[in-house]
Amino acid sequence: MSTENISFASLNLAPEILKALDEFGYTTPTPIQAQAIPIVLQGRDLMAGAQTGTGKTAAFALPMLQKLLPLASTSASPARHPIRALVLVPTRELAIQVEASVKVYAKHSPLRSLVVYGGVDIKTQTPHLMRGVEILVATPGRLLDHIEQRTLQLSQVQMLILDEADRMLDMGFMPDLKRILALLPKQRQNLMFSATFSTEIKKLSEEFLKDPLLVEVARSNATNENVTQKVYHVPQDDKHALLAQILNETETKQVIVFTKTKLTASRLARQLVREGISADAIHGDKSQLERIQALDAFKNGKIHALIATDVAARGLDIDQLPMVINYEIPSAPEDYVHRIGRTGRAGALGVAISLVSPEEEKYLVEIEKLIKREIPKETSNLPARGRASSERSHHDRGNREKGHERATEQRSTPRPSPAKKSSDPWFDKPYEPTGATTTKAPAPQLYRSNKPKREVAALLGGLQAKQ
Ligand code: AMP
Repeated sequence: MSTENISFASLNLAPEILKALDEFGYTTPTPIQAQAIPIVLQGRDLMAGAQTGTGKTAAFALPMLQKLLPLASTSASPARHPIRALVLVPTRELAIQVEASVKVYAKHSPLRSLVVYGGVDIKTQTPHLMRGVEILVATPGRLLDHIEQRTLQLSQVQMLILDEADRMLDMGFMPDLKRILALLPKQRQNLMFSATFSTEIKKLSEEFLKDPLLVEVARSNATNENVTQKVYHVPQDDKHALLAQILNETETKQVIVFTKTKLTASRLARQLVREGISADAIHGDKSQLERIQALDAFKNGKIHALIATDVAARGLDIDQLPMVINYEIPSAPEDYVHRIGRTGRAGALGVAISLVSPEEEKYLVEIEKLIKREIPKETSNLPARGRASSERSHHDRGNREKGHERATEQRSTPRPSPAKKSSDPWFDKPYEPTGATTTKAPAPQLYRSNKPKREVAALLGGLQAKQ
């Protein structure tokens, strides 16, 4: 279906919603929005293949609001504001971003929304729930906590949205999802969004969706055309020096650097800081406060490199992020697609650099198979003295953490949480700055064209605060 000349008005969205979109600077629907909105408005179940950055949030939030508008009430009575739409997301960060978007789109309607997630005192969320909300955005664990404490009622839910469903499965939320789904009314509309279509995702969609229509904005498992990808072959022990060189030479002010483990993330951030590069690590062992502070510093441009594990980076909606670096490439090829989805969003250009040691070659082969293309290889010109090989003991490698970071949603009631799929090894090495190619990443925004371009990455939460 061609979606080129479609306007939001032609999608039959209500004036209250169109007004909010106009004020927020959205001029035309993104392809996923143009395709998904009519299906949801028809009342059909939907299975959507869309990565973060495609505008998937509005693709479900806009028709969801439209369907709830006739039921909106200006009454102060909580009974007039039952939970009618439940949006389940894998992480706290995504939960905050999604709910912030819902608030923006719903601002000219009396519909109320709320976000609940783990890691904060559950009691602070209860009074807000008690006042009544039509749209609840939640992480699965915290939702179950509230259900156990009887602080919410799901008997009026008519729409269920599973956002980043593949991530929820990766993070071991399947048992929680099943428990939640069993508590919802049978008669409801279900929407599922996933960046990848694994066998597990297909199984989940068969289980939870009724006769769904499928929409896909990019080929599943494809990587964004706006992202220039490149690989540097580099011994593990030289990776740190190469990373420092790339960061020092790039004009890009904000870079997310991915590591496989929490230990590497922390160690790397410390090393970079020692070398005068502003860096901080974000991972599941950090407190919520530390994570928020690191993110704020990054989005304000105070931190040049944010070192993140896959779990921590999941769901971060960072606008106009021009570069990601894979310090270690992931052993699960889908994670590569997710990682580089952090850049080149909504039409902007981006660069994704992967530092690949000989031991990681086998993962690179899998990634190239998945994305069905070969990633261009570059050679590094790191000066010999910059190499760390001789300085580091073999002992160090032996000591590295073996496991993946686990999903770390904190809960008030302990419940066994299945581990993320197991991982393996990893490694390090140098690079050659081939002119300006790796560094310049102007970000012409295809969507939100009438908004001023910002220099620094902004979380959606930050955007909303400016409204
Ligand atoms: P999402 O994929 O939902 O995380 O959205 C990615 C980014 O695109 C967010 O910053 C949205 O605010 C922005 N966005 C989504 N839809 C549109 C649109 N139709 N026009 C302009 N910007 C949009």
